Amino acid sequence: MLFRSLVTGATSGIGRAIALELARNDAAVIVSGRSRTRGEETVAAIGAAGGSARFVAGDLGDLQSIAALAAEAADADILFNNAGAFGFSPTADQDVASFEQMFDVNVRGTFFLTASLAPKMARRGGGSIVNITTMAAEIGMVGAAAYGASKAAVLGLTRTWAAEFAGDNVRVNAVSPGPTATEGTAEVMGPDGVAQVGTTVPLNRSATVEEIARVVAFVASPAASYATGGTFHADGGRQAI
Ligand code: NAP
Repeated sequence: MLFRSLVTGATSGIGRAIALELARNDAAVIVSGRSRTRGEETVAAIGAAGGSARFVAGDLGDLQSIAALAAEAADADILFNNAGAFGFSPTADQDVASFEQMFDVNVRGTFFLTASLAPKMARRGGGSIVNITTMAAEIGMVGAAAYGASKAAVLGLTRTWAAEFAGDNVRVNAVSPGPTATEGTAEVMGPDGVAQVGTTVPLNRSATVEEIARVVAFVASPAASYATGGTFHADGGRQAI
C-alpha cells in the first residue's frame, strides 16, 4: 500500500533521513521546509533511490504558510512533526526572539498543522502522527530550558491528541532522539558538540540520522498499530538509566 506522508523539516538532518526511509518503504512523501534548494535536493535523493516525493515550501513559524502547507498535504495519511528550532542558551541570556521562535515553530506550528490534518485523517478512517521531541523535554539539561519546555509541550500535545483522535483510528506518538549529528547541531553546537553529548549516554556515542529515522518510520507504520500516546526513546539509553 502506498502511504502519503508529510515530513516537516525534511530539508536537513533527521527529517531528510525520515523522508528517505519512508520512500524506501513505499510511501509518497511531501518534503517540507523553508529552503526550496535543500528541499529539492532531498526530493532528488529520493527519486535517485527509486522513491516518490515532491517539495512543498512551508514556514512553521507563519500561520498563513502553515495553512497553505496543510492545503497541499490535505490527503496525508502520516504526518511527521519534525521541523524544530533549537536556540540553546543559559536562562538569563535567552533572548525573547529565540524564545518566541522555538515556541512558534515547535509548539504553535506543530499544533496548527496537526489541527488541520488530523481531522482529515479521521474522516478518511485513520492515520498516524509522529512528533519529534528531545531528551531535554524529560530530563534537565543545562542551556536547554526554553527548548526543553517547548518540546515538553509537544509531549503534552502527543498525549492529548492520542486521547482525542483514538476513536477515529488516528495514532499519535512521540519519538525522542538522543544526540544526533545533523547540519543543525553542527551549526548550534559546533562540529564536536554532539559527539561530546554522545559520551554522556549509556551507549557512549551519538546517533546517526538513519538510526533515528528507522525508529520513527516503525512507530508511524502499521507495524506499530497498537501504539498510541507513547514516547519512544531512541537516545542510547539516556532517559532510562
Ligand atoms: P536541522 O538539521 O537543523 O533540521 C531542522 C529542520 O527543520 C530543517 O529541515 C529546517 O528546514 C526545518 N525548520 C526549522 N525551522 C523551520 C521553520 N520555521 N519552518 C519550517 N521548517 C523549519 O535539525 P535536526 O537536528 O535534524 O532536528 C530535527 C528535529 O529533531 C528537531 O525537531 C529537533 O528539535 C529534534 N531533535 C534533534 C536532535 C539532534 O541531536 N539532532 C536531538 C533531539 C531532537 P528549513 O531550514 O529548510 O526551513
